[in-house]
Amino acid sequence: MELFKSMDTSGEAGQNENENNLKPVADQEVEKVQCLIIGSGPAGYTAAIYAARANLNPVLYEGLQPGGQLTTTTEVENYPGYPEGVTGPVMMEDLKKQAERFGTDIRWGIATSVDFSGENHIVVIDKKKMIEAEAVIIATGATAKYLGLEAEKKYAGGGVSACATCDGFFYKGKDVAVVGGGDTAAEEALYLAGIVRKVYLIIRKDYMRASKVMVERVENTKNIEVLYEHNTKDLYGENGVEGAILLHKMGTPEEKEVRIEISGFFLAIGHTPNSEIFKDYIETDEVGYIKTDAPGSKTTVKGVFACGDVMDSTYRQAVTAAGSGCKAAIDVERYLGEKHS
Ligand code: NDP
Repeated sequence: MELFKSMDTSGEAGQNENENNLKPVADQEVEKVQCLIIGSGPAGYTAAIYAARANLNPVLYEGLQPGGQLTTTTEVENYPGYPEGVTGPVMMEDLKKQAERFGTDIRWGIATSVDFSGENHIVVIDKKKMIEAEAVIIATGATAKYLGLEAEKKYAGGGVSACATCDGFFYKGKDVAVVGGGDTAAEEALYLAGIVRKVYLIIRKDYMRASKVMVERVENTKNIEVLYEHNTKDLYGENGVEGAILLHKMGTPEEKEVRIEISGFFLAIGHTPNSEIFKDYIETDEVGYIKTDAPGSKTTVKGVFACGDVMDSTYRQAVTAAGSGCKAAIDVERYLGEKHS
């Protein structure tokens, strides 16, 4: 019987049967913990701070990208409590220290599979270590989608961003582009239009997928120019992004190269919630966002809670993620309190 669903994060073949097919071995030592937190963004660390202060002895696994998405941004100016702003990595380090200060056991490792079918929950770390937790908080976040251009890596943090709310302010008075035709792209373009001089909205189809009201707002905003049927071929610039090379009507006889001069290039082509390994047990929406009993953090499995971007497709801000991490820890405290009463 296969107990666990696996996620191959390493790409490496396992060394023995237990690593390969994730079947538990009878004599394998299982570590028992009260509260296990998976993920180390603002949601995970905040959950850890609250859980540790509630004497729940939380163990937190940092995951694939310790510190989460904020470690890839530069300046964070919209998180309350930092009047001068703070860099993403410093803020995450501060949150980590705060979680450690109250006794959170923070560990390096990736949750690779789970079994949420029992009273307690099994989480396998790095395909070998097994943890049995009374309560699990999922704070694995979401990953912004990129086009896959080399230039996106080259200009990461230097003109390429996947968060207009985080980085838009740095382009005050400049020209920028947003890629995508959904509600996120429309929102990002409208937000940026209030800050920058001009926004090009690059859409690969001849229509926008966004809701009608958003399309109308975009079309009625003077400093947004919608470029339908355009794909991005490349970005260029000596010191950061200076422009983009687009293809109009790509792959047709009328294909034409178009250049736009921009300082910022914003991706808004969707996010992927990091919920893959939980999906066989926990209900998600069609995109993969974990469903919770809003305004609470309970998932469809007793004793499993979710917070942050893995369950929030709407706000996706550090401060909202932190808030939901707090809720998850309080929900765990109440759950364990009732269980042991
Ligand atoms: P969507 O999946 O709705 O839209 C993604 C957009 O990116 C589409 O226009 C898609 O093009 C485009 N795209 C995808 N891949 C590429 C690519 N490789 N090159 C160029 N373009 C690409 O994602 P969103 O993040 O916009 O929205 C996700 C969900 O969240 C939706 O249900 C949305 O309604 C909701 N949402 C609601 C908001 C609100 O109500 N205020 C705000 C934000 C999001 P194509 O259309 O051609 O596939």
